[in-house]
Amino acid sequence: MHEMGLCEAIVDAVLQRAEGRRVRSVRVRVAGHPVVREVVDQGFAMAAAGTVAEGAELELVVEPPGVVCRACAEWSPVTSARALVACPRCGSLDVASAEDERLVVEEIAFSAETAAQPAAETAGGRR
Ligand SMILES: [Zn+2]
Repeated sequence: MHEMGLCEAIVDAVLQRAEGRRVRSVRVRVAGHPVVREVVDQGFAMAAAGTVAEGAELELVVEPPGVVCRACAEWSPVTSARALVACPRCGSLDVASAEDERLVVEEIAFSAETAAQPAAETAGGRR
């Protein structure tokens, strides 16, 4: 399943940067492939289970399809039919649709508490 591979790639990238720190939230930018948000949310939760990223909030930014300009090398989102034939930035007609998938982990927020600290909430419920 495409989304599951995507989620594993996200979790991998997050864990590499987390270096053992507890992850609170992650912002990921995905381009070049339509993804189903709910499926990615679920897949992320599954892939993150048992890691420091377990329970982290996933903010998914899905970019629209884009074109790459051969004149200025700029990537532009296709927001109108015109963008498919001319670069919105420099006006060059030498544009190609950007089909390659991109996955960028833009931001990782870490929890202030470390994983080693005991969770106070687990004691709740009994008075
Ligand atoms: Zn251009």
